[in-house]
Amino acid sequence: MPSMQQNENARRDNGVLLISLTSSLDNIGVKYLHSALLANNIQSTVLFFPADDVDEYTEPMKNFVKAGDFIMVGISLMSIAFEKAVKITRIIKSHSSVPVVWGGIHPTIDPDSARTHADYFCVGEAEASLVEFVNRLKEGGEGPVLDVKGLNHSSQEGYTIAPSITNLDTLAFPHHHPPYAYVSDAKQILPLDTRLFRKHARYHGSQLTVISSRGCPFKCSFCCNDLLKDTFGSKVRRRSPENVMRELEANYYTSPVHINYVDFYDDCLISHPDKWIERFVNLYKKINVPLMFHAIPSFITEHKMALLSSIPGGFALVGLQSGSEKTNALVYKRKQTRETFIKAIEIIQRHGACGSYDIITENPYETEEDWHKTIGLVSKLPRNTFITLYSLTFYKNTELYRMALRDGLNVETHKTKSQGKVAHKSREVRAIRVGFIFGEAIAVNLLQRGDVVGNAALAVLAFVCQYFIDPIRYIRLGYISQGRNIPRFTKLLFSFSSHFLRNYVLAFSARK
Ligand code: SF4
Repeated sequence: MPSMQQNENARRDNGVLLISLTSSLDNIGVKYLHSALLANNIQSTVLFFPADDVDEYTEPMKNFVKAGDFIMVGISLMSIAFEKAVKITRIIKSHSSVPVVWGGIHPTIDPDSARTHADYFCVGEAEASLVEFVNRLKEGGEGPVLDVKGLNHSSQEGYTIAPSITNLDTLAFPHHHPPYAYVSDAKQILPLDTRLFRKHARYHGSQLTVISSRGCPFKCSFCCNDLLKDTFGSKVRRRSPENVMRELEANYYTSPVHINYVDFYDDCLISHPDKWIERFVNLYKKINVPLMFHAIPSFITEHKMALLSSIPGGFALVGLQSGSEKTNALVYKRKQTRETFIKAIEIIQRHGACGSYDIITENPYETEEDWHKTIGLVSKLPRNTFITLYSLTFYKNTELYRMALRDGLNVETHKTKSQGKVAHKSREVRAIRVGFIFGEAIAVNLLQRGDVVGNAALAVLAFVCQYFIDPIRYIRLGYISQGRNIPRFTKLLFSFSSHFLRNYVLAFSARK
């Protein structure tokens, strides 16, 4: 793997430019590709493009691409960044003949939408196929490259899928603060120095992201994993704990900023076998920074939580999605009963970890009766938890998308809708917030009234929850999740305060 030390930022002629469109620098997919190219002696530059006002960057982008003399430009996108990717592709193609390749989750789940804009699009995991593709481009030759599996030319009929990586331990480690990196900032494209890293990284770079497995044991109908299983197979692929630790140590000890949490991006960290978790926890004692990890309720056991709670603090991020068993079984196709969920909450609680519970709102298949069930469950959550509300998005070609299409619902929202933007003023969202803080009886009662007085009371209480009680709860959870350690908690406050205030102000303005 390349040196983890920060190299001097420099664009190199005829290398690859990778563009990340996420709103922060936390794009682990692009970081993996960047490291794979560098490890194979291919010059690679990564441009993080968190800015949304793409038009303001037209000239800087043109100049940047021209000066770099790249052999190809790769753009990594999720569905939400589709319009942004189209604009950036247009800017690049308006003055340059460099091939533009789209990759990431969106082209994998919706390849046809990529072929109309990009020269090539990648379906599947690109670490190996991108290296092969770049080497083929370097060899030159007539016409487009047509025979690298997974890298599809837009003129080709159908598409091929990149073979999935079977041994994840062979991959070069992604860097927390990558070398040869740039960022869009103040209408310029600038080298990613420590100041800009702090400015644009999630929570100022204080959360170190890592992924120890690829794939999910579940196959929920609304999730991209529903489609990825057809692409990558249903088996969860795992790294060894030793390999994960080597990456963590390399990034942790070279991080330019203090690390508050190690954030596992695995779909379900806790689906690792007991032995894996035992080995990992033993190795991890060297670092011992609080963990954040996703956990499917049915995989949460006393033994696993006991092991993980030997690391101080931490957060378990758990999907509830709906309190209605009918919705979970028939709409989301999740094998999750109410009992399993309650048992999981109790285990997390017994081991003193904080919990964050995800709930999907605005599901057109749900009735008020289903909302009552969700309210009933969230009202039982212990005090060291918070809830995160999402808005249902029909991702193209998922099982739920196809079902909604058959049922005549509006499904063409996946390219523009952010699942993180919930309808704060909807009765459902308000009632869930109120139920979580003030209890089931009050929330359900106000919902059932449905008159002007009931709705007004719901609005006022939801406002109080969101802007007065939730922030205090977050601060308290921050303290608990840092193992009740005051020096660590102080550093956490320092890293999170500006982000927290910004979101607070944004949420206020969004209400208008
Ligand atoms: S458990 Fe989570 S990651 Fe896995 S398929 Fe369901 S929603 Fe997707």
